[in-house]
Amino acid sequence: MVEGNQRPQICLICGQEQHESLEILGKQICCTCETEMVKSKVEDPVYLYYVWRLRRLLAH
Ligand SMILES: [Zn+2]
Repeated sequence: MVEGNQRPQICLICGQEQHESLEILGKQICCTCETEMVKSKVEDPVYLYYVWRLRRLLAH
């Protein structure tokens, strides 16, 4: 019974399986979403969407 540390890295924002992902606050987030988050402005609806997603995730 070998349980490796390998697990699919699924971005919690877009839900896509990623080869490379970042860990933000213990959550896997893909580079694409991370870039979008950084690019997005506070007043940007996209930013609000990400914040909403993150808050939902962190609420678990
Ligand atoms: Zn993503």
